[in-house]
Amino acid sequence: MTALSWRFVGAAVLAVALPFTAAACGVGGDKLVIGMKFDQPGLGLRNPDGTMSGFDVDVATYVAKELGYPEDEIEWKESPSGQRENLIESGEVKYIVATYSITDAREQEVSFAGPYLVTGQSLLVRADDNGIAGAESLQNGKRLCSVSGSTPALRIKDKYPGVQLQQYDTYSACVEALKDGAVDAVTTDEVILAGYAAQSPGRFKIVGRPFSQERYGIGLKEGDTALCVKVTEALKKMEADGSWKAAFDRNLGPAGITAPAPPAPDGCHKAGDD
Ligand code: GLU
Repeated sequence: MTALSWRFVGAAVLAVALPFTAAACGVGGDKLVIGMKFDQPGLGLRNPDGTMSGFDVDVATYVAKELGYPEDEIEWKESPSGQRENLIESGEVKYIVATYSITDAREQEVSFAGPYLVTGQSLLVRADDNGIAGAESLQNGKRLCSVSGSTPALRIKDKYPGVQLQQYDTYSACVEALKDGAVDAVTTDEVILAGYAAQSPGRFKIVGRPFSQERYGIGLKEGDTALCVKVTEALKKMEADGSWKAAFDRNLGPAGITAPAPPAPDGCHKAGDD
């Protein structure tokens, strides 16, 4: 054979071999990047050994599997409350499962599949503090911590303007401040607070009744209806085959919360829906 035809054979072998290499490491060799909280025990937590655990992790992993991505093809991207819309809009994450409430304002920028969990805003205080019974009792000079870009922080500014609100980047930073006495209470969704209370037994307590309804959705690019439909179908399947309840009991059971009936994911929530 001439040098030219050897080159041809070489090119043909490459052309055949390349697609297989790509297939072996997933769709085009790319990882599926999922937005997640890294510091919320019971929901989204990165453990010291690098593994991930929590209800949101299990939901995100189940959905990924339904989309054709096994666990080892997932890349987790930390998504603090105030950065979630940006991370979706910039395309840095495919979707976000991070205690992310479906709201009209957010629907102007992103779409949501869900809801997959319903909870409500509440208050966490030190176990020995008997001076705070609910949001009203914070008005007389108490220092309250929440997170910038979150619905609980917005609601406090709106409904309880007399409260001294301090906004941090993460709830774990708020909980540290509560431990140290730098703030008197932390506010966010009850399931999140229960996770922190369970992590430090005897140190904190949840007071009052939940005073909002937070419906968690999976955030994704605005108008990506095809993805939104697939994610909704995956959520429905997770609820129907018992995986949703198993994940709830495993992750939130230790915090003393019993699994409610799963909410019916009613499709894609986007601007102009409601
Ligand atoms: N669910 C609320 C929200 O999306 C509070 C929890 C959080 O900040 O992740 O803003």
